[in-house]
Amino acid sequence: MAKKEVVAMLLAGGQGKRLKGLTKSLAKPAVYFGGTYRIIDFPLSNCSNSGIDTVGVLTQYEPLVLHSYIGIGSDWDLDRKNGGVYVLPPHEREDGSNWYRGTADAIYRNLNFIEQFDPEHVLILSGDHIYKMDYEKMLQYHKEKDADCTISVIDVPLEEASRFGLLNTHDDYRIYEFEEKPPEPKSTLASMGIYLFKWDVLKRFLIQDAQQASTSYDFGKDIIPLLLENEKSLYAYPFEGYWKDVGTIRSLWESNMDLLDEDTPFNLNDPDWRIYTRNPNQPAQYISPSAKVRSCIISEGSVVHGEVNHSVLFYGIEVGENSSVTDSVIMPKVKIGQNVRIHKAIIAEGLVIPDGVHLSSGPEDESDILLVDQEELERQLLEGMTSKA
Ligand code: ADP
Repeated sequence: MAKKEVVAMLLAGGQGKRLKGLTKSLAKPAVYFGGTYRIIDFPLSNCSNSGIDTVGVLTQYEPLVLHSYIGIGSDWDLDRKNGGVYVLPPHEREDGSNWYRGTADAIYRNLNFIEQFDPEHVLILSGDHIYKMDYEKMLQYHKEKDADCTISVIDVPLEEASRFGLLNTHDDYRIYEFEEKPPEPKSTLASMGIYLFKWDVLKRFLIQDAQQASTSYDFGKDIIPLLLENEKSLYAYPFEGYWKDVGTIRSLWESNMDLLDEDTPFNLNDPDWRIYTRNPNQPAQYISPSAKVRSCIISEGSVVHGEVNHSVLFYGIEVGENSSVTDSVIMPKVKIGQNVRIHKAIIAEGLVIPDGVHLSSGPEDESDILLVDQEELERQLLEGMTSKA
């Protein structure tokens, strides 16, 4: 294998429990976003656009869809003879270990994969974030600082801070403190889960960590604190731009809604930074004479007879006559009958919503987003029948 300056390792194996029904049989990075994408399109396109052509994708939970979606990487221009995309599921080893026990373990178990490219640096990415980022600029910064590890950071609101790894830096951005998801946040400078390491340093500490009895094999909980304890040089790389961790139903909904503003904070129509995806090969959408459509993303193969306001419709959707969809995200291949009302909801892939059904988060909690999967739909239908009886 030819030597590479950087190899990217994309962590895509988490279960994504907080996305409930959306990740029942789907890995979180394969969840749909923005009318035509899946979440993993963002880090893969960022790699491609940043000139990083060697990417290992660590899968584990429900990998089937993800594996066939990634294929040989041609949709992201990552099908290379020299480098390219490699899907790396866990495999049984001599010592009997099987599943990846954590994010650091996933990388540790693939040391040989990385080693064959003899890289200077390894870029660790996560498969559940929506953002556009030039990793090449981060690499320049990492090299200028001569850092052992550079962590991409963003300022987050204090009330959300305890969801993240938080850090404190000196004026020159050198990190002196890091805490993974502290219940009482002392800082609002959050790790974006994007790390650049000198490969020889990372390798040494992954091996050291794996020998400790008490480790949880996690970058945030174990590897970063271990580097700090050993006085390695860690720097924060302040990222300015749109970045969203879409790990919850609410944040996934919000991030989809962000695309609908006329002056969206996240422009996907940027010829200099295309986000690539696999084309579903559907016919063009059809908006019938009875339809009313405002402030929407409507994808290929959709047929709209009813009213759609401020919503994201993926491909192959039908909206029947006299139905209305407002402030909602409709995943692919959903069939909505007639006289249906949908408000502030995410409707899971492939559902058939019968005529006359009303779906919205209860009036008692207006701020809630309703996730409708098969189970929730059946519950609502049953409730509708009992309230009518
Ligand atoms: P978060 O709290 O933001 O989910 P984690 O550190 O748990 O952060 O996970 C970071 C990323 O690593 C996520 O994209 C997740 O899907 C992925 N991941 C978590 N555990 C594993 C694993 N055992 N193997 C591969 N990827 C994983």
